[in-house]
Amino acid sequence: MRKCVGVLALQGAFREHRQVLEQLGCDVVEVRKTSDLEGIHGLIIPGGESTTIGKLLKTDEMGEKIKELGTKDLPIFGTCAGMILLSKTIINSDQYSLNLMDTVVERNAFGRQVASFETDLFVPAMGSNSLRAVFIRAPYLREVAPNVGILAEYEGKIVFARQGNLLASAFHPELTSDQRVHKYFLDMIDEHWAK
Ligand code: GLN
Repeated sequence: MRKCVGVLALQGAFREHRQVLEQLGCDVVEVRKTSDLEGIHGLIIPGGESTTIGKLLKTDEMGEKIKELGTKDLPIFGTCAGMILLSKTIINSDQYSLNLMDTVVERNAFGRQVASFETDLFVPAMGSNSLRAVFIRAPYLREVAPNVGILAEYEGKIVFARQGNLLASAFHPELTSDQRVHKYFLDMIDEHWAK
């Protein structure tokens, strides 16, 4: 199936996601308004600043529409700020959330001293070769409900998880040349639309 993937393009690292998706043969729509969501097969919410993206999502009621699509099983992948926006609970914050994943997220959770770092992650669902992961002022999931599958941990902290049609990573897979994470998401899209 020729896939059309939306990338939320209000703020943050959306161009990099676009490039990877195009390299993998997808059509890409940069989503800036509610009508851009029509006809997409899946949606990526990029890294950036979750408070800013959240404020912008409230306008045009785009957030409500994304929430509705997520509830109706549209595959959605949130990276970093996107992981924060997907989580039902954001520790110490009353910022806007899409309220979709049964997860408790903590922002900037690796501390100020180590704002950014790279590491090799072991992700069993993606084979035996480790995955290079770039973390930038990253969050992690402090708690997940039993219906959330943990795909990877870093030093005992949950940094990659899936709940049915929803995927969330604390790191930025669009900033490395390893395309396995995007391919995994595209497989989720194929599974969904084959139903
Ligand atoms: N620290 C940012 C936030 O809280 C997320 C950082 C990122 O997306 N790289 O929104």
